[in-house]
Amino acid sequence: MKYDVPYKIFLTEEELPKQWHNVRAVMKELPDPFINPATLQPCTADDLRPVFCDDLIAQELNTTDLYIDIPEEIRDFYRMYRPSPVVRAYNLEKALDTPAKIYYKFEGQNTSGSHKLNSAVAQVYYAKKQGLTHLTTETGAGQWGTALAMACAFYNVDLTVFMVKVSAEQKPHRRAVIQTYGGKVIASPSDTTEVGRKILAENPNTGGSLGCAISEAMELALKTDNCRYVLGSVLNHVLLHQTVIGLEAKTALDKYGVEPDIIIGCAGGGSNLGGLISPFMEGKILNQNDIEFIAVEPASCPSLTRGKYAYDFGDTGKTTPLMRMYTLGSGFIPSPNHAGGLRYHGMSPIVSKLYHDGYITARSVEQTKVFDAAIEFAKTEGTLPAPESSHAIKVAIDEALKCKETGEAKNILFGLTGTGYFDMSAYTAYHDGTMTDYIPTDEDLQKGFDSLPQID
Ligand SMILES: *Cc1c(COP(=O)(O)O)cnc(C)c1O
Repeated sequence: MKYDVPYKIFLTEEELPKQWHNVRAVMKELPDPFINPATLQPCTADDLRPVFCDDLIAQELNTTDLYIDIPEEIRDFYRMYRPSPVVRAYNLEKALDTPAKIYYKFEGQNTSGSHKLNSAVAQVYYAKKQGLTHLTTETGAGQWGTALAMACAFYNVDLTVFMVKVSAEQKPHRRAVIQTYGGKVIASPSDTTEVGRKILAENPNTGGSLGCAISEAMELALKTDNCRYVLGSVLNHVLLHQTVIGLEAKTALDKYGVEPDIIIGCAGGGSNLGGLISPFMEGKILNQNDIEFIAVEPASCPSLTRGKYAYDFGDTGKTTPLMRMYTLGSGFIPSPNHAGGLRYHGMSPIVSKLYHDGYITARSVEQTKVFDAAIEFAKTEGTLPAPESSHAIKVAIDEALKCKETGEAKNILFGLTGTGYFDMSAYTAYHDGTMTDYIPTDEDLQKGFDSLPQID
């Protein structure tokens, strides 16, 4: 067999991006500003300062600079595990017998096992630069907590991780990895915070949610000296850091003259998807390409496909600024039998706006189908995918099979955000046939919508 591009397109260290890409600088309409829930006025940097780091606030509010320099110290850390490869999925193509050409950008080649490290290292660097000594965060599936623990160990910053209780129980080894890097892990909701105690009093058997864990982490940050809360998705600066994924992918594909027709990403809070598509989206907005961008989310937590575009809190305790985004309501708690990550009630305001304005389409998929795709991928391409990433695999396979019917040789690029070694309880449920699909009814969703703030 003769290959037109290599199995793996590696970049050199010189090709590691020097700047992040800020797509807001070219968007025809910007996402709506954050709103301070106390004043109902747009948030200023001062409003955000008690909770977030200064440099990150500047990035959060920057809507004008298309490129933002990556400090050399951060690039030095990136060099330990980047650039990450773009892989041509020849074996999957063969198994599907499709004329489509499938590429994936693989972010699982670091110990944390996902793309989250790209933002973790940046956030800890800026925190350290500001003289902070302690950070708090939440983690659901555990990848973010692990990534942040790695970065905190490197910069010698203390870390407390509130881990969603069901995940802490399902993934004891995740906890051990976080502890190995020096992070302290607390299962959430916990009795260590006021908001945790309140949530437990109302709902003693809850398995927790990202929204609860965020509230607890924010409370501890506010009560602790020299401490801030950091978040692994959703926010504009997180998406900005993740654009190293898209920038590298574009450089790699450009080397071989490959122009993607379809780009697919899984969407939890939207950071990997936003980061992957950002430089390509610039071209779409400027009418230089006509790429189809597809966000894939679980049918059990369908914020884009069934949510409302509304101002909402980022957390269950209703303490964050209000963000206009696609949301199921901060009171939404996904069904506990949902195993595949991507459990957040809202969506990045940038991704939400691009979706609202028709630049991105979205699909929701059921988890047993996601695991069918994961297993097909593992068997053909060798890599054991994270359940989150497998949402993108599922739709990449669907699109490749469509090409088989139409005979089109489309170039499909998807984000393989991570590996699935810590998700074996979900794989086990799949193998045992105990995994079920849960699709919330309109009534279920209405309960979440009832928690939306009435601000207009
Ligand atoms: C966190 C995570 C996601 C989802 O987060 P986004 O912010 O939507 O990118 C997807 N895949 C993996 C492996 C993750 O760890």
